[in-house]
Amino acid sequence: MSDRKLNVVVWGENVHEHKNKVVNELYPDGMHETIASALREAGTELNVTTATLQEDQCGLTEERLAKTDVLTWWGHCAHGDVPEEVVDRVQKRVLEGMGLIVLHSGHYSKIFKRLMGTTCSLTWREAGEKERLWVCNPGHPIAQGIDTYFEIENAEMYGEPFGIPSPDEQVFISWFEGGEVFRSGCCWHRGNGKIFYFRPGHETYPVYYNKNVQRVLVNSVLWAAPQGSVWKDGAPNIPIEKAPEKIVKRGGSLHQEGEDGFK
Ligand code: ZN
Repeated sequence: MSDRKLNVVVWGENVHEHKNKVVNELYPDGMHETIASALREAGTELNVTTATLQEDQCGLTEERLAKTDVLTWWGHCAHGDVPEEVVDRVQKRVLEGMGLIVLHSGHYSKIFKRLMGTTCSLTWREAGEKERLWVCNPGHPIAQGIDTYFEIENAEMYGEPFGIPSPDEQVFISWFEGGEVFRSGCCWHRGNGKIFYFRPGHETYPVYYNKNVQRVLVNSVLWAAPQGSVWKDGAPNIPIEKAPEKIVKRGGSLHQEGEDGFK
């Protein structure tokens, strides 16, 4: 990786903050600003900016995404308002190598469902109960600096079954006071890109001020940063004369000379 700073964009739906008094008091500048501040405080290697649903093209233009190394995503009540072309663009960048951190109710965002290819459904309950997040992969970069577990005093419960493809790496599993468990920290690779889903973050509790949560956010951004970008879309035909070794065409072909449209 080069010495340049990583460009991180913290995306926030930014709707509850303007409609719900509790959320507005907890996050007067929006959840995205609190998350961005936590990442900025972590050190000098991150260049952190924010984008919201209300901006033109959700603040995620082609030019901006091209320069983004890691995108974090919090959404809940307005998933349907994110235009398909923005989802297409983010998916393309993930396949090229951009990291994506999906937070809490982002499990139902268009981009997460697109990249997972499954329902991403779960069970839930809002009772302000305790959540205990167990580190189940202590050697993983995202778990560094976290004890064997940490707790969030008041949380919304998410329970299994969680409708995701089996994660490539599992970092946290949550237990809730009511008895449920949940795969609360999951990693996947899609193309060249890394994806991390992190469960905590219900809007009516001060979850993003929790130091352990902030630590996980920082760790996950650093983990998800691209290591290089080699992916190219398409399925080009390699003519015989361009094969790395000299070869002679043998036998028949499924395809006629000059045939178009076969990929
Ligand atoms: Zn929630």
